[in-house]
Amino acid sequence: MKVLVINAGSSSLKYQLIDMDKQSVLAKGLCERIGIEGSNLQHTNVGADSKTKIEKPMKDHGDAIQMVIDALVDEKIGVIKSMDEIGAVGHRVVHGAEEFANSCLITEAVMKALEKCTPLAPLHNPPNIIGINACTKIMPNVPQVAVFDTAFHQTMPAKAFMYALPYECYEKDRIRKYGFHGTSHKYVSQEAAKFLGKAPEDLKIITCHLGNGSSISAVDGGKCVDTSMGFTPLDGVPMGTRTGSMDPAVVTYLLNKGMTAAEVDNLMNKKSGVQGVSGVSSDFRDLSAASKEGNKRAQLALDMFTYQVKKYIGSYAAAMGGVDAVVFTAGVGENDAATRKAVTDGLGFMGIAVDDEKNNTRGTVDITADGASVKTLVIPTNEELMIAIDTKKIVEG
Ligand code: AMP
Repeated sequence: MKVLVINAGSSSLKYQLIDMDKQSVLAKGLCERIGIEGSNLQHTNVGADSKTKIEKPMKDHGDAIQMVIDALVDEKIGVIKSMDEIGAVGHRVVHGAEEFANSCLITEAVMKALEKCTPLAPLHNPPNIIGINACTKIMPNVPQVAVFDTAFHQTMPAKAFMYALPYECYEKDRIRKYGFHGTSHKYVSQEAAKFLGKAPEDLKIITCHLGNGSSISAVDGGKCVDTSMGFTPLDGVPMGTRTGSMDPAVVTYLLNKGMTAAEVDNLMNKKSGVQGVSGVSSDFRDLSAASKEGNKRAQLALDMFTYQVKKYIGSYAAAMGGVDAVVFTAGVGENDAATRKAVTDGLGFMGIAVDDEKNNTRGTVDITADGASVKTLVIPTNEELMIAIDTKKIVEG
């Protein structure tokens, strides 16, 4: 079966066509500036290793999906003969709230439930829904599946997901920890179990998805029992431009000083994190370059980040009563050996230690130092493949 994976944003749409028999990507690409002047599609035929950029107005996501299909079936740049070869479409959906603990086949009832989740992700869920509707119009007979960023975290127990607010805040306003990056945490925890030759049920794993947005999860017996992001993706460790956790009284203090709610929101989401502290960049490559040149605030931002990740590893090991493996993934986790080293430094007392030479290799790799009892692994994430795997499983019943 060939599965088309769609990740629709407000003005962009990413796609991959995956051949599930070989689990290989046939084509991938990106539509940019949907509904804005200068819209274009960047398409890669993976087998032919050819890239094409097509500039053409796209007034909405319907136009974008049609352009994707046209590119996929095109004689020159395409990879399939007709749209009929697409067996299913898998959509990334950001927020499934408590309604969706698993990926699911999209039906009218599911669309209604999805609308109910929208107030919890007002920026992200609407484009996801628009993407689904556009596909329904163009491919009415192709089954579609929704795969949620939040679903993997729905196994958290109440003691982990509740905030100590009055209980009505949870019951009436649905305020609780949801967690995000679930598709990535699920994928790398499953891959880690495969890599170690063990059943997920027999493992306690801490997955560190460290990228522009970062989150850490505790996965016990294949199920998420805690995660660092919360009601929104602002919680947890400091990120590229997001604060991560801090005393919530800072918010009321800033409001009382005269900032508007929108200004505080913008400050915490777009101007904070390692960018805000360093004043240099949100990109870890720039930070380590600046630090090497003696920029103290760049080094401070890196230290704050690695210190918080280290604390999560310690606390999740305590929460699970042990840990068998720590997994690093995403842009920073996969590529930044110095950050992995700094995060794991000093954790020898709990059996975590990294071998410097192995730590400098790339790809899926075991970087555990000789004698350490906890495995430390680097596993490249692949959210699109995870979406395609779930989609195929659900469509095939
Ligand atoms: P992601 O959000 O997973 O795409 O990760 C993007 C982030 O990964 C970038 O903003 C960088 O901070 C980081 N990154 C990517 N490549 C490297 C690298 N070679 N060394 C350090 N950080 C990297």
